[in-house]
Parts: sequence; structure tokens; C-alpha cells
Amino acid sequence: MPLTVPALLARSAGAKFERGTIERRELGEHDVLIDIAYAGICHSDIHQAREEWGSATFPMVPGHEIAGVVSAVGSGVTTRSVGDRVGVGCFVDSCRECARCQAGEEQFCERGMVATYNGRQYSGEPTYGGYSTQIVVDENYVLRIPDELALDVAAPLLCAGITLYSPLKNWGAGPGRRVAIVGMGGLGHMGVQLAHALGAEVSVLSQSLSKEADGRSLGADRYYATSDPETFARLRGQFDLIISTVSADLDMDAYLRMLAFEGSFVFVGLPENKQSFRVFSLTAGRRSISGSNIGGIRQTQEMLDFCAAHGIASLVETITADDVDTAYDRVVASDVRYRFVIDTSTIPTS
Ligand code: NAP
Ligand code: ZN
Ligand code: ZN
Repeated sequence: MPLTVPALLARSAGAKFERGTIERRELGEHDVLIDIAYAGICHSDIHQAREEWGSATFPMVPGHEIAGVVSAVGSGVTTRSVGDRVGVGCFVDSCRECARCQAGEEQFCERGMVATYNGRQYSGEPTYGGYSTQIVVDENYVLRIPDELALDVAAPLLCAGITLYSPLKNWGAGPGRRVAIVGMGGLGHMGVQLAHALGAEVSVLSQSLSKEADGRSLGADRYYATSDPETFARLRGQFDLIISTVSADLDMDAYLRMLAFEGSFVFVGLPENKQSFRVFSLTAGRRSISGSNIGGIRQTQEMLDFCAAHGIASLVETITADDVDTAYDRVVASDVRYRFVIDTSTIPTS
């Protein structure tokens, strides 16, 4: 029998969230039932619930930063047990056979990974995310949350954490490397902590200096306001790696000129509009532009263990189910320090 589960639903693009119920599939042989404790609000939830990335599926239950506790397991489950503290990120299945899946980079699955929400299972069923009280997920897509990490501050690691950890690792952030994080938001505040723990020299490029004290306490060595045109002139050629977490349009040439010889500019933030740049901005220093998308299951577990070992977690503001619409507006206004997490116990009506 499928499970009927309380959830927060957006019934159409941009609609306010309503309490309701959804169905979770009956526990299969390799499935894990998770009692969700907290679900983070990622800016991607807002982009999708407001249909800013093209056609989306409604009703929608967003949420791909899920932390909770296992409450039941299927008969064939070997890696998780009842009572385990676990997390679920941006995808809940992939083909498991293609080269990318075999390499542990399921987010680039050639068949297309199954997104945690606003997606479809390979069987065709729509997927619903973490703004609910329970979820059923195949054990291979369930992460272990180390005991050192409380569930509320661990939830955002499942997207914001891995989305920064992956490019920092892949582009070799470490001692002697100068890394700039653009945007001090949900993703950005994780990037500062992770880059610092990896040993890189960390700069923040924020619109203003209003969050400088927080940035420095999280590990930033330098902090600059991009609203000051002097910043771009002063920082010419200064960075080996710039990671942008911004979803607004950027003056790409100005950012590319801040790269050192062979430096890389990596997008993780996802502007809706096309971005443009002069090719000279690249050829002048054998620079490159790239993009990165979350991370695979193996690297996500590595990131969680790294965070536990280094005392890294998200700074969160815990909210109730009634606060989600307001929280969305505050995220869009850059008025969050630094991630909202929904206490999912406030979702059921009674
Ligand atoms: P967020 O918390 O809203 O942070 C974005 C930050 O961008 C803001 O805090 C702000 O930082 C800066 N910003 C906002 N408006 C700006 C503007 N007009 N010009 C310049 N900077 C501006 O969002 P998030 O959850 O971190 O997500 C950021 C982006 O990453 C979204 O587009 C999201 O969809 C995307 N994302 C991508 C992946 C991936 O795998 N590639 C994964 C998750 C999310 P300051 O106030 O410091 O300037
Ligand atoms: Zn996300
Ligand atoms: Zn695959």
C-alpha cells in the first residue's frame, strides 16, 4: 500500500504553499523510509516553484536538502538501518549503468538522473521533495549524516554543501590557491567554509560589505564589495578560481579579468539569461569558463564526512510551514543568513 504523507504543495507556478497530502510508494526491497526532520530552502526551489526555468510539474513539493531518520527498511536493504541519521540530496535515482553512473557522477547520468522533485521516476510517477514528513528512497541514494552534525544544520549540505565542495575539489582548491566566492548566500557561505578548510586563500565578492563580519568568521581572508567599481580594477589577475553562486547577470569580462594566468571561472549559480563575454578576456591569460552541477553520491558522502571532521555546517534560520512563502521572498531579496530550513513537524495540520 502506498503511504499518504502530509506535505506542503504549490498547486501552480508562483502559488502560495498549501498544506495537503501526497502518496509515497510502498516500501520496495531496496527502499528506505525516512522520517524527515528538516528540509532546506534552496534558491533552486524558488526558481522551479515559480517556473523560472521553463515548464514545471504541479502540484510541486520542493525540497532537495533533506535530513531525517530511517524509520523502516525494505527486506533487501543492507547499508541502512532503522534509527540511522540520513540525508537525501538533489536526485533519488539514476540508470546506474552508464559511464557517468559507474564513475560515481550520477548527477550527469546519460539517461538523466531522477530529480528529487519536479521530476519523474523511470516508472513515470512524479517525484515529490522534502517539504513533507516522510520520503521513500532507494538505499543507494541515501547519505549517512555523521553524528557530529545536527540534522538542521546538516540539511543544507545536501545541496549547498556538495555544490561548492565538488568544484572546489575538482579545480584543486588548496594551499597556495586563491579562490573567490561570488555571492554570500546559501551556497556562498558553504563555499567560504569549505575553501578555507581545504587550505585555500579565500575571498568573498559580495554586492556589499554588510555580511563581511560573518564571512570573515567563516574563514574568508578578504572580502570585497562588487558595488564598488574599484574592486574590479584592484583585483585584476588575482584569482586562480572564481566560483559564482549568483543567479543574476554578471559583467563577465570584469570577472574574467580578475583571473590569474590559467585561472578558471566556474558557474554554479544559474542565471536565467544568456551570459556574454569577449573572447579576448579568455585568450589574454589562457583562462577558462566552466560550470558544475551538484555532486555524485560518493563525493557527497565524502563532503559530509569532511564537514564533520572540520566542524563545518550551515548557518540556518529554522522556520515553520507557515513561513515558507515569506522565506522565499526573503531569499530573493538576499535577506537570509544563510539558509532557511523548514521544521517538517509543523507541516501536518493536526
Ligand atoms: P541565495 O541564497 O539566494 O544566494 C545567492 C547570492 O547571490 C545572494 O546571497 C547574493 O549574495 C547574490 N546575489 C543576489 N542577487 C544578486 C544580484 N542581483 N547581483 C549580484 N549578486 C546577487 O541562493 P543559493 O541557494 O545560494 O543559490 C544560488 C544559485 O545557485 C541559484 O541560481 C540556484 O538555482 C543555483 N544552484 C545551482 C546548483 C548547481 O548544482 N549548479 C545547486 C544549487 C543551487 P550577496 O548578498 O553576497 O551579494
Ligand atoms: Zn539546491
Ligand atoms: Zn547513468
